[in-house]
Amino acid sequence: MDNEILRRNRKRKEQQLKRRRRLKLCIFASGFILAAVLLGRGLLRPVWTRFFGSGTDDSTTLQTDVARTDPDAAVRRPLKGKDDIEKLSVNTIGWHEDSKGRWFQNADGTYFADGFQSIDGIQYYFDDDGHIVVSDWVVRGGVEYYFDANGSYIPGQERPMIALTFDDGPSEYTDRLLDALEANGAHATFFMLGWIAEEQAGCIRRMLEIGCEIGNHSWNHVNLPQQTIETAIQQIRDTDAELEAICGQESTVVRPPYGSYSDEVIAAIDKPFILWCVDSLDWSLKDAKLDYDSIMNSGAIQDGSIILMHDIYEPSVACAEMLIPALISQGYRLVTISEMARAKNVDLISSAYTDFWDTSLEAGLVPGYRGEDAITPQTLDVRTDGTTDDSQTEGTDDSQTEETEDEIAA
Ligand code: ZN
Repeated sequence: MDNEILRRNRKRKEQQLKRRRRLKLCIFASGFILAAVLLGRGLLRPVWTRFFGSGTDDSTTLQTDVARTDPDAAVRRPLKGKDDIEKLSVNTIGWHEDSKGRWFQNADGTYFADGFQSIDGIQYYFDDDGHIVVSDWVVRGGVEYYFDANGSYIPGQERPMIALTFDDGPSEYTDRLLDALEANGAHATFFMLGWIAEEQAGCIRRMLEIGCEIGNHSWNHVNLPQQTIETAIQQIRDTDAELEAICGQESTVVRPPYGSYSDEVIAAIDKPFILWCVDSLDWSLKDAKLDYDSIMNSGAIQDGSIILMHDIYEPSVACAEMLIPALISQGYRLVTISEMARAKNVDLISSAYTDFWDTSLEAGLVPGYRGEDAITPQTLDVRTDGTTDDSQTEGTDDSQTEETEDEIAA
């Protein structure tokens, strides 16, 4: 009888133990499912990334940049660093706004940065910090894109541009001019003489570093058509050899001294000959204010103009220091000749150019003009439906850039 009671007690205890084990398993499974759901919603990942920083240093960001197939498409950046504390404080998918502007959080906790991204059919541009560009221009691959007050890309908008060109240098004043260009994010083209190039070698290398263009103005300022063809070719070739020895590349464009050329000379030298439509007359005026007025009152300050100046005179450089910010404040972008040509759909060929005005392009006066072909950034679209429907956003996200996400995870 006692044995029977003992057996029953043992059986009851075994059943209790089994029930407890089942309950523990249930709790563990529920916890696991909950964690999986939270991870899926991107709620845990930013926190994990922020505090443990696994694989989210700059080298990973660099890998992500390299991995993108479209070089202009936005990358997905994991949250990182102090700068992202504001982003970290809002962990829901979709659009957010902070003190620096609007940004977009993906399902995996990443945010778009440094490129174009289409969301709900609207093309946005995300800056390096992950905020969209509004009411401003973005230059990508030498092409300008305009984004309105909502951050939407507006096709067909053209920012007026002007090409500043400087002849007869480089000189002791050129470095000061480069300071002004660099400080204003402006570019210019320098048509230089071979025989004095060596004296300002560092200056020529700096031109390239800040995005300026290297031009050829012959070896010692000869009137090219008055030379034999062999001498004319030699004048350009020797200068190119000198420039290449100094900065590693020869000239891309030529300005013939005195603006003097012939079809024969152009054909023999086989480079674009760049003339001008605005002559500052700085070589004669030699006064910064008079130079400035001469340019501004020329009646030819417009989109596509080429301005002629000389960086061998101190007043010309002083004029440029006023002119550069003034033109920018009027809405102009200051570009090199090659940048201008690219933006205007012109392939520079061995021919003469005086301007890139719309009227000249349309009249067929600009050699190498390819005609209008609107350039639109192409990126994949992320659809959010304007709702808080997470599953839809997640679904689209997952199918979109698996490759990029793998790189982040790596
Ligand atoms: Zn000259």
